[in-house]
Amino acid sequence: MDEMRYQLDLLTAMNQKLASGENMYKAIVDTSSCAFLFYDFEKDSYSLLGEWEQFFDFNVVTIKDFDTIVDAYEEEFEYEIRQILSAEKSDKSALKAEVKRKDSAIWNLIRADVSYDEDGTPTRKIIRFQNITKEKIQNEELQYLAYYDYATGLYGRNHFISVASDLLAKAKENSETLSVLFIDIDNFKQINDGMGMLVGDEVIQAFGQFLKTLADDNIVISHFSSDIYCMAIYASRGSRSVDSVYRLIKERCNKPFYLTNNVQLTLSVCIGVAEYPEAADDIIRLINFAEIVMFKAKQSGKNDIQYFDRAILKEFLQNGEMEKKIKEAIEENAFEIHYQPQFTIQTGTMRGVEALVRMKDRDGSLISPALFIPIAEKNGTIVEIGDFVLEESVRTYAEWKQKYHIDFMLSINISPIQYKKADFTSKLLAVLEKYDVSPEKIELELTESVLVEDMEEVKQKMFLLSDYGIKVSLDDFGTGFSSLSYLKGLPIHTLKIDKSFADTIGMDESSEVIMESIVALTKRLGYETVAEGIETKEQMAYLKQINCDNIQGFLLSKPITKYELEQLIIRSI
Ligand code: C2E
Ligand code: MG
Ligand code: MG
Repeated sequence: MDEMRYQLDLLTAMNQKLASGENMYKAIVDTSSCAFLFYDFEKDSYSLLGEWEQFFDFNVVTIKDFDTIVDAYEEEFEYEIRQILSAEKSDKSALKAEVKRKDSAIWNLIRADVSYDEDGTPTRKIIRFQNITKEKIQNEELQYLAYYDYATGLYGRNHFISVASDLLAKAKENSETLSVLFIDIDNFKQINDGMGMLVGDEVIQAFGQFLKTLADDNIVISHFSSDIYCMAIYASRGSRSVDSVYRLIKERCNKPFYLTNNVQLTLSVCIGVAEYPEAADDIIRLINFAEIVMFKAKQSGKNDIQYFDRAILKEFLQNGEMEKKIKEAIEENAFEIHYQPQFTIQTGTMRGVEALVRMKDRDGSLISPALFIPIAEKNGTIVEIGDFVLEESVRTYAEWKQKYHIDFMLSINISPIQYKKADFTSKLLAVLEKYDVSPEKIELELTESVLVEDMEEVKQKMFLLSDYGIKVSLDDFGTGFSSLSYLKGLPIHTLKIDKSFADTIGMDESSEVIMESIVALTKRLGYETVAEGIETKEQMAYLKQINCDNIQGFLLSKPITKYELEQLIIRSI
């Protein structure tokens, strides 16, 4: 019934307003859940249309009742509301305002549309009340999201950059410093993977909320992403020094964070710091540099702070460049293998060759594996490089075998990352089968670093390999833990004594004693020995004297191309 009356009223109003302006028309058509106060200037009468009762529990009969309307809203809006309600002669344009109801979270949009006759005399006025609470909340949320991070209540990244830029401008103006701290929670991945994402989220939130307590007019803090936060400190000296902030963070991290379900966690963080004016003079670079040096803190054992240092930046940029070169080389197949022969001391015969990879630069020069392997290990491309070395060296070996009937050993360096891949053994066996090369002729050079983690798995794989007849050689012995007891029980065939030992030969007696006892002990344990980096005749003579089995080094041959090695084979036949 109400609905019908409402429609009827509307029609009446519309008919009456046929000649009136567009605004009026719009206001009436857009009626959903609105209340209308309709005023006829000629008759001096008010009518109430639409959902009036939804908005107010009183009627408007005379102008005096305007007070009741005004009274329904927060005081601060009184002036605006009165303006709208009394809109007439002078107000040819629509008047409107967003106003809040008294003692409630409800927001209304009030709008006045006045129509005039040809002389410009006002004839009718419609005041429309509309509930805009939902839109208002949504807008506020959007605004909040644009500036703040929902989980932590800290600034979001973009807003941080803008606020920190202002602080930087202020620092420049006042010849002050501005420090940017890039903060990353240690082992967050383990927390997230091990305890679940909800715990991870809570950690992000709890730590962020703690950081928020450090904020003031001169310290702005943001949640960048995941477990990463960024802080800018204006005039970072004295009581607001980076050190004092770092101390506060460390103190808090040492105490447990209490999470739901009685989960308690202590945290540690790595922080990189870059300061204006020393490091850079724009905010983006300060943030980038702080991030770069933060990684240095991660590398050097976590739970640490690292200040900006040009040398770190240089290393980072070089690494970045090398990374690019590696990717290009992989795409263009720009790797080649050199082979360095090893000789048995007593007989002078070739015991085998070590395959050593090189990367071809675009200018044609060769890049040393010492420069690119560590970076390839970090970004995982070592697996692709290793696959190439494996296939190419075995293929070449098969070619020599077919042509010259050689049967020496082929030693291949294997990175721990490559070795630990689940399909390592099957890939290796497939290559050997493809080129019909006997596993007994293959020696894998592993470094002690492979033994550090997941010892059980590493051991099992070694036994599997040795079951197939593949030999394992421990490379660079003497540079790592060098504990022979560590090696007990592992199916290791050969020990390669590092060049650093050979370097001490002839220098002093005590080092020679060590060299001698290593060779003696190694042989007693049943390992074959290869001394690396032999450059002089004296070294060779000495090694022969102490019964070292084999030598490898520039004295007898540098690593050479496969064609050069072929010549060597031909000469030795
Ligand atoms: P490494 O396995 O210990 O190889 C021996 C290194 O010593 C080679 O350097 C070799 O050229 C060098 N060398 C041999 N004799 C002498 C000598 O008498 N004097 C001196 N000063 N050096 C000598 P290179 O070829 O630069 O390789 C460096 C390292 O890169 C290798 O050390 C190995 O750890 C790694 N590497 C090389 N190829 C590969 C590969 O295919 N895969 C993996 N994962 N690592 C590789
Ligand atoms: Mg090696
Ligand atoms: Mg070595």
